Amino acid sequence: MGKVLIIGAGGVGTVVAHKVAQNPDVFTEIMIASRTKSKCDAVVKAIGNPNIRTAQVDADNVDELVALFNDFKPEIVINVALPYQDLTIMEACLKTGVNYLDTANYEPKDVAHFEYSWQWAYKQRFEEAGLTAILGCGFDPGVSGVYTAYAAKHHFDEIQYLDIVDCNAGNHHKAFATNFNPEINIREITQNGRYYENGQWVTTQPLEIHKDLTYPNIGPRDSYLLYHEELESLVKNFPTIKRARFWMTFGQEYLTHLRVIQDIGMARIDPIDYQGMKIVPLQFLKAVLPNPQDLGENYEGETSIGCRIRGLKDGKERTYYVYNNCSHQEAYKETGMQGVSYTTGVPAMIGAMMFLKGLWKRPGVWNVEEFDPDPFMEQLNKQGLPWHEVFDGDLEL
Ligand code: NDP
Repeated sequence: MGKVLIIGAGGVGTVVAHKVAQNPDVFTEIMIASRTKSKCDAVVKAIGNPNIRTAQVDADNVDELVALFNDFKPEIVINVALPYQDLTIMEACLKTGVNYLDTANYEPKDVAHFEYSWQWAYKQRFEEAGLTAILGCGFDPGVSGVYTAYAAKHHFDEIQYLDIVDCNAGNHHKAFATNFNPEINIREITQNGRYYENGQWVTTQPLEIHKDLTYPNIGPRDSYLLYHEELESLVKNFPTIKRARFWMTFGQEYLTHLRVIQDIGMARIDPIDYQGMKIVPLQFLKAVLPNPQDLGENYEGETSIGCRIRGLKDGKERTYYVYNNCSHQEAYKETGMQGVSYTTGVPAMIGAMMFLKGLWKRPGVWNVEEFDPDPFMEQLNKQGLPWHEVFDGDLEL
């Protein structure tokens, strides 16, 4: 059915490559390209499908991307490199007539700030080119938006309160490690918290608000209010929402390490002079921390991510909780990667599948909740991320 190019061969890229290869009826030709070609070759070897092509590309460089796209001629690019590369890849897509999908919104390297405006600004150009761009198609953002759209379509006349809850109850047996790219992860967590209430954004100190939330099959976990990018698009696309928040669990050990990292300046993203060289402390820290890709083997436990929603149906208040639990070990057995990479990579593959099947094909730049959630929800059940629903339970929020 279609030719796909995956950019990025990290934890998420590895999962995307496995899942794309498992669906040969949809993805007829596959290439994986990244900064380090040997990593792409290793992924192909692990999958055991010699027909998958590999290439080296610097995705910060539009000309290199254009040359690669013109050579392989993909129908869609799955961008699972880093958020810094979103705009260069979108530019290259426009220059070569290729459709686009990513899992994280653009961030400039020198400011720890993310918002959709930079990518939404491409809407008209994608429309005029007749190309589709699907933004934020991992788990959160991604499935969190699809869950919300599904709730709005089937279970509510009006969604009023939305809480996205993200629990990682896994144990990787390392003193400190991040579950995805450490640089991106630490930038995200050390920012101010932010949530939406009554038409306004409320800012909090980093990790200032937290409470115990109970996760299915896991139990209570301390959950911290963070700003997360899908809040921005969800309150825009579902204007009845009165309050939208995002919560993520952290253990005390993790938070203590994080505080020390910040206190000693290792979370800084401005370049410093070190023996005549410019280095960015957070990038140096990434080089010495465990590689998230290597956590899978000894990772126990599971993740649980879902949406807790309160609103109106037929004039009555109702609550709804839709979630997925994903076992780190099961993810590792299938793809060699842990659950956080798995829960991101599977939806990215499904998004590309939706596009190639013509179900999510619409010129312009879109967030996932703007498409029909039903075929995506159906695939989640088939592709390893089954979901469960609780009606009129206690949301705790
Ligand atoms: P990794 O750091 O493991 O992998 C990133 C990959 O991108 C590496 O292969 C890296 O190459 C490659 N890369 C980086 N810069 C360039 C460049 N300039 N040109 C070409 N390739 C480049 O990250 P993850 O796999 O953990 O995360 C991938 C993406 O997924 C991130 O954007 C992250 O924010 C997003 N994510 C989204 C989630 C969601 O639920 N929506 C959850 C988790 C992650 P090299 O190996 O040479 O460094």
